[in-house]
Parts: sequence; structure tokens; C-alpha cells
Amino acid sequence: MLSKLRPHLYLPSVQSVDPRLLRRRGIRGVVLDLDNTLAGWNSPRPSREVKAWVQRLRGTGIGAVILSNNGRGRVEDFAGWLGVPFIPHARKPSARGFQRALSVLGTTPQSTAVIGDQVFTDILGGNRAGMFTILVTPLTRHEFLGTRAVRHLEDVVLHHFERSGLRVPSSAG
Ligand SMILES: [Mg+2]
Repeated sequence: MLSKLRPHLYLPSVQSVDPRLLRRRGIRGVVLDLDNTLAGWNSPRPSREVKAWVQRLRGTGIGAVILSNNGRGRVEDFAGWLGVPFIPHARKPSARGFQRALSVLGTTPQSTAVIGDQVFTDILGGNRAGMFTILVTPLTRHEFLGTRAVRHLEDVVLHHFERSGLRVPSSAG
């Protein structure tokens, strides 16, 4: 179980994920988390940096889909600014959303990466689906009370992985 919580990579932000390196690893599609990965707390539009990164991703020939546990209105609006397909109400880490993401991307688990800020939803779900998982540090610390409680557990797990060799971005916590 613990090994399913371990991300393959841990980076400071989505923009620090180099699309060319993904491509070289054989990645053809990415499953993107929304809140605190692409967007700060309830910020309705992507930043210029995030927009530019999605452009670079496209330029590299990698497809993208937003997989979010948030509701349709929020996810649809945000995805519209990026021109990226989306799946709301995903109930991550449930397998179902990740399966749907694969069918949207037209990729296999082996050629798909997940990028998200939460170990117990994005990373656990992605690892169970057999994808390449990338944890990023959350954009903001403002989030649901439930999420905040989970963060403490997350810190414990990440500290454990850090001791066993996971490289943690210097900007993290
Ligand atoms: Mg998130």
C-alpha cells in the first residue's frame, strides 16, 4: 500500500515538468489535477505560465485531460480557458476516473503520466492505474478542512519517502 503512495517524481510546480523529457520517457498523454496544481484556490483562470506550459505540452505532441474531484461548473470554466478536455466529479483515487481519462487521451497506462498535488488522490490513483506519477507542491495552502487534515498524513508519508531516497523540491514545505 505504501509503495502506491510514492510518486515517481516530485517537482516544485507543473511548469517544472519538461514536456520533452516526458516525451522521451514514452509519455503521450497527461492527466492533470486542477485545484492547487493548475490553479490556485478557486482562481477561475489559468496563469500565463500555466497557459504557456500547456502550449509547450501540445507542441511536444502530448495530449492532456483535466481530471478533477471538483464540480462541473468550476472544472468546465477553467478547462475552457486552456482548451483542454475535462472530467469533473472524478472521485479520485477511484479507478473509474483514471479509466475515463485514458479513453479521452487514447493512451495506455504505460504512456500516460499523472500530475497532481495530492498523494492520497492523484498519486495513489495514478499508481494503481499503472501510470507515471508526478507530485507537485500545492500552489496555495488554502483548501478544504478535510484536505488540510489529510496534508498532515501526507507530510508523514513524504518524509518517509524522503528518507528512502525521494528527492523533495527545495521549495516544498
Ligand atoms: Mg489538487
